[in-house]
Amino acid sequence: DKFKDGLSKTRNSFVGAMNDLVKDFREIDEDFFEELEEILISADIGVYTVMELVEELKDEARTRNILHAEDLRPVISEKLAEMLQKSEQESKLNMQEEGELTVILFVGVNGVGKTTSIGKLAHQFKQEGKNVLMAAGDTFRAGAIEQLEVWGQRAGVEVIKQQAGSDPAAVMYDAIQSAKSKKADVLLCDTAGRLQNKVNLMNELEKVKRVLSREVPTAPHEVLLVLDATTGQNAMSQAKAFGEATKVSGIVLTKLDGTAKGGIVLAIRNELNIPVKLVGLGEGLDDLHEFQAEQYVHGLFS
Ligand code: GDP
Repeated sequence: DKFKDGLSKTRNSFVGAMNDLVKDFREIDEDFFEELEEILISADIGVYTVMELVEELKDEARTRNILHAEDLRPVISEKLAEMLQKSEQESKLNMQEEGELTVILFVGVNGVGKTTSIGKLAHQFKQEGKNVLMAAGDTFRAGAIEQLEVWGQRAGVEVIKQQAGSDPAAVMYDAIQSAKSKKADVLLCDTAGRLQNKVNLMNELEKVKRVLSREVPTAPHEVLLVLDATTGQNAMSQAKAFGEATKVSGIVLTKLDGTAKGGIVLAIRNELNIPVKLVGLGEGLDDLHEFQAEQYVHGLFS
């Protein structure tokens, strides 16, 4: 079970802390809930989400007449699963009908795993028998085009590119023309992730989107923000900043395998109201997965 392996760091630290918290037939009181809050917050579940969860747990303890901590424990995972399941449907990528082009735009700052995620997704679509193209729209960062090409070779997918420093919108124009003439099923577009200058970022992304939608009116079908799970609150503030620059339709959360704070999925979902659509659970080609609430909660607790 990939989720179980990928979440082992979070699970080990979380389960360890929970075992300590509920031992010796501990009774449920205010202190108990305070300690529980601490544990949940240190897993990056998010302060507001934790407060909401703890309130619900207090209610449950009262109405079900639960007196011992150990008996409340399964209710915690029930509640977390409920919170995530509300949004399960939205977690699916918005793919077009067969025979129509799906355009997916990736945004995010350098180092979060954007190129890697595009490469992994290209590989997956290819495995499914789809005709895939990638567009090297990060013309700003040195080496970005070459790095995408390495992934292109790994996945066996062509990369549409121009020289470094060229206009990303021109790259997108080429890419979408190429996708149309080759009858591609999916076009995966990289972009530069310059958060330092939000006005430039906003202009660049709007221009890119305009070029895409002029050629395919419904495109882009997804704008996926890539976030690094190991950066906790930084990831949360990046999500807010990108959300102000453009309309983000979903999150790719990378490096969940590298953190003990995997609760951040809940914070993103609950506090930013953007669905997590894909999660990165390792560095290999096959380590990108559709987010599934049930498997996620299972990976955290059992
Ligand atoms: P970019 O600058 O956003 O394009 O970032 P890269 O795609 O170059 O990734 C930065 C580093 O993160 C690389 O060393 C990747 O191997 C690593 N990485 C990306 N995704 C994951 C993941 O899901 N898990 C782990 N463990 N590493 C990842």
